[in-house]
Amino acid sequence: MKYEGPVHCHIVEKAARDLLKERGVEIIDVAEIVYKMQVQYTDTLTIEECIESVDRVLEKREIQHAILVGVELDKLAEQGRLSEPLQSIVSMDEGLFGVDETIALGSVFGYGSIAVTTFGYLDKEKIGIIKELDEKGNQINTFLDDLICSIAANASSRLAHRIRDREERLREEEIERRDIEERIG
Ligand code: MG
Repeated sequence: MKYEGPVHCHIVEKAARDLLKERGVEIIDVAEIVYKMQVQYTDTLTIEECIESVDRVLEKREIQHAILVGVELDKLAEQGRLSEPLQSIVSMDEGLFGVDETIALGSVFGYGSIAVTTFGYLDKEKIGIIKELDEKGNQINTFLDDLICSIAANASSRLAHRIRDREERLREEEIERRDIEERIG
């Protein structure tokens, strides 16, 4: 179906989420990476918080657009429909290609420096679903693995900042509470 005028954000978001599912990536898979990245900094972290963070990241238009572009190229390469030499470069995941990383990296800047460094770490270490995608023989995931690094890095950074905000709020409340107790007592 061809759209007249700007495509509504709900349509783009649904398309991006459907593509991840279609390529074998569930929200929980990404949330598990986020959990691994953040649990070392907070002992009260739950997987639900990580799922929520991934969900919020997927609401961002920049991420959705990156998913649409990257996964489309993976699928076209899989079907042998790209022009040469791009077809060969994408299907063999040529190490010096770099456009897959560039597209994914483009959407981490909105989440600050923690997202950027986490992206670099995940891209190198390839943990969880990222490793599985990298090793999937029957599917071309040249762009998808980097996109997952980006989503996980953004969700981790978002969570790190929120956890700090919550801790600070709790500390302030505690000080206030003691203050009141002192005044009453
Ligand atoms: Mg790649």
